[in-house]
Amino acid sequence: MNLSLEYFVKRHGTILGVPQGVVFFLLFCVAFRLSFGFCTVAFGVISESEITLENYSDGDVVRYPVVLLRGRVVGRENEVVIIENLSSSLPSRIVRTSTCRGRFKALMELTEGVNHLSIASGSARLDISLFYHRSSNKHFVRLILFLDSSGEDNFAVPEEWTNAHRPSLRSEELFHKFQTAALLWQTATAERLYDAGYGRRTFTLETDRRGRVIVWKQRGKKSSEEYFAKSEVERFREIYKEIVSGSAFDKNACYFILTAFSGENEIAGRMYGRVALGVDNVAMFDSATFFSCPDEVGDAPEYFSDPSVVSSQWFRDSAYRNTRWALTSSTLGAGLHELGHAFGLSHSTDPNDFMSRGFDRFNRIFTLVEPPSSLSPGGEFKDDEVVEWTSSTAPKLIRSPWIE
Ligand SMILES: [Zn+2]
Repeated sequence: MNLSLEYFVKRHGTILGVPQGVVFFLLFCVAFRLSFGFCTVAFGVISESEITLENYSDGDVVRYPVVLLRGRVVGRENEVVIIENLSSSLPSRIVRTSTCRGRFKALMELTEGVNHLSIASGSARLDISLFYHRSSNKHFVRLILFLDSSGEDNFAVPEEWTNAHRPSLRSEELFHKFQTAALLWQTATAERLYDAGYGRRTFTLETDRRGRVIVWKQRGKKSSEEYFAKSEVERFREIYKEIVSGSAFDKNACYFILTAFSGENEIAGRMYGRVALGVDNVAMFDSATFFSCPDEVGDAPEYFSDPSVVSSQWFRDSAYRNTRWALTSSTLGAGLHELGHAFGLSHSTDPNDFMSRGFDRFNRIFTLVEPPSSLSPGGEFKDDEVVEWTSSTAPKLIRSPWIE
């Protein structure tokens, strides 16, 4: 008996008794399954197309340690997205967020060198590698926590923000908030310059050998009452003079000075020692609302989402929006605004610029939905309603020696 395929097909139109059409269909199915399986193993691509990043590509290099990832999970609404930095041993290596109309934003801290990121949502997954190399710019931003002559390191925090057992903030906690604020300013500058078409340029923060942001602590020559007695501009000049005549002076430094003694005088019931100024490589800001800043980078989304109402003394600082998220947003935005002055920028007439009250929208860089406030029902906002470096400020900013 001749068992060749040709014989059976030619003579009977069957293969081993099975009609040839059925056999070819089965062979096609096997071949398709094999190639499908091969793609899965070789590239992990079955679901990869479902997650995309809008602002980063595999192999991108950055010169600052915290990146803002913006992406999409196709066809997924309110889906949890989990991003893991497989190269990191930091507590912040896993970030959870959720999508809004399929979009997501997430902050990720990088370690030096390569960072293998795994972004997963449901069965979809995207793997990407980003490289962080430290900046080589010799010009850097130096953070200084400026105390009065008493060295007092206790700062008032409204009770509503904390609890009866923790009515104040120690300078150690203020250190963390200051470091976090500076990292967010650095990321905001880079990501928004990139969006404006100037590349991921930003300033360099002074760091130690392990890459941690350094905060100097300097005790002033005067009591807080003596500083309070001066006008805002006089206080700025006085403190700056003390800084540049002390050990914190460095000719390549741009200073961000956080005055640590301003706050509420309970007897007088008003705030003292407020300062928010910046000019010629020095920015100065007071600590009165710094309690509203996140302790860690990973806490930022939570702070920007808190709709709790703040008491009347913070109305103005929250741009009359009377909520915690707004106080956090305006405090951080105003800090970067002053740093912009220190980099040589003047005010912008564009209402959406960092160098105008556009800085109140600092939160929108990192979020997709704004909580309600006394001025707005909140909700989604458009991409062009996020604070930006506009054509009135960006070209000048990138020429500053502190921006690389
Ligand atoms: Zn200004």
